[in-house]
Amino acid sequence: MNNKQWQSPFNPFNSWKVMFHSDNLWNIHDWINRKTDSLGPPISVTIDPTNRCNQKCIWCLYKGWKDDPNNQRDIPINKFKELVDHLKNWGVKSICLAGGGEPTMYPYVLELIDYIGISGFDLGFITNGVKLTKDICSSLVKHANFVGFSVDAGNGYTYRDLHGVDKYNEVLNNINNLRLEIDKIMSKTKIGYKYLLHPYNIKPEELLSAFENAKRIGVDDLHFRVVYQKDMLTGSKEIDRDIIRKFNLAFDIINILREAYKTLNVYGISHKYDEEKLVEPRKSFLRCYVAPLALYFGADGNMWLCADTRGYNSSKLGSWFDNGDVSYNIFKIWGSEEHRKLMEDIKIYNCPRCTFSFYNELFEKTFVKDSMMRNLI
Ligand code: SF4
Repeated sequence: MNNKQWQSPFNPFNSWKVMFHSDNLWNIHDWINRKTDSLGPPISVTIDPTNRCNQKCIWCLYKGWKDDPNNQRDIPINKFKELVDHLKNWGVKSICLAGGGEPTMYPYVLELIDYIGISGFDLGFITNGVKLTKDICSSLVKHANFVGFSVDAGNGYTYRDLHGVDKYNEVLNNINNLRLEIDKIMSKTKIGYKYLLHPYNIKPEELLSAFENAKRIGVDDLHFRVVYQKDMLTGSKEIDRDIIRKFNLAFDIINILREAYKTLNVYGISHKYDEEKLVEPRKSFLRCYVAPLALYFGADGNMWLCADTRGYNSSKLGSWFDNGDVSYNIFKIWGSEEHRKLMEDIKIYNCPRCTFSFYNELFEKTFVKDSMMRNLI
């Protein structure tokens, strides 16, 4: 396989960007190792406005958990605004609205986007795009840096089978409407067509069709990543070899198409996965240092240590919503001995996958072990 991943290394998916936050990384390192009791704010937070969703994707990581009525609450918009105010005063730099569920299902999503934007955060927005109204488009083009659409298909049949709803064309129309709004005001907002590679959607004609459609509707970035499903590898050598061969073939096709569609930024994100077995998460580090670079606020009212372990008891940082004001709830846990203990107790082999795996590897190898001999320039 010759997976190029991207045309230029200067792009938002390049995990080396964590080097910009070296002060934060050293602060986390010293805090975990008890050299300081003061832990600075996360760089970025993710807020799930809701756990409800209007689709039934076959790979949904939160299936079951998000459908449990105990995990579905309608948190009033004023509480979210209080949270945004706190994050601003604390020094957090960016917010991603994602899920959990589908953010456009939250009744006050428009107000939330506007409030975050006016407060001066960098904003990312991840959606399936079905309910992307004209009003939401107008608001996103004013405030969002990035809008990522989970499409995962090159035609309506595959989309229906993977997402459980027949909405492919509607979603493409909505993406195109966003493009028109962006162009109207010459907005900085970038559009991403996200494509999770799954054995069902990696046929050459399907990939070609995704490129063609993405170009036609005015997408900036086309983003391919292998789907994470625990049971993807079966244990049978022959079957597993065939699955891995198919993914390698998909990346070969993507590399060829990248050359043919030069107006699209094409990302084949594979550095978070084992180089040989593309479906297995890469975990080339000994301990987790980087989780406190981010913080997750769930629609169930809970805070979570990390995106990938959201829903696990070992990841729960308590409620940000109940019992008192938001600042009090956050500072009660953030940087506390209890928080540190949760970090110390992380067993990497228990983590399902690690979205921050490369950050962890980079920090351990270059910062802690100085394998680049930083002072010998
Ligand atoms: S998945 Fe595990 S190792 Fe990765 S950031 Fe989360 S807690 Fe840390």
